[in-house]
Amino acid sequence: MNGKEEAKKAYDKEYYQKNKGKINKRCRDYNKKNKGKIKRYFKKWYQDNNGREYMVNYRALHPVRHWATNSINSHKKSGYTINFSLDDLEHLGKCTTSCIYCECELHYILGKGQRTDGPTLDRIDNNIVLDIRDTQIICKKCNFSKQNRAHKEFILYCKKVGGLCESY
Ligand SMILES: [Zn+2]
Repeated sequence: MNGKEEAKKAYDKEYYQKNKGKINKRCRDYNKKNKGKIKRYFKKWYQDNNGREYMVNYRALHPVRHWATNSINSHKKSGYTINFSLDDLEHLGKCTTSCIYCECELHYILGKGQRTDGPTLDRIDNNIVLDIRDTQIICKKCNFSKQNRAHKEFILYCKKVGGLCESY
């Protein structure tokens, strides 16, 4: 990339950061209006370009992004409002390589069965509206134990269990 291209890329990035809300809304509106057209276009592209192989390769090359896409979609389907972008969650995923509670290593590759050390998006304080600062990534086992508890509540619960177990 030459200097001119780099400057253009930096300008585009800055422009996007400043106008993120407006741009995302425009994209959402466009997608809503052209749902059928987009679906048909994607279907044709998928058939003409061996889409299955492309998707398999893409997932292998970008496991965190793929995980982030699935997590955002499943939370939206469950009725949560997501106030962050795919890029934000991908970044959080790339920075989170182990579970903050049990410290097990997190494996982002999906499709290998239901791994208990798989990463899950956790709502720190159990809110319905999710901001990136209220979000953390923890392993499936810990998330299952935490259930709908807020972070502090879960820590108190763990301390209680730990305290009870000391007498054994
Ligand atoms: Zn864990």
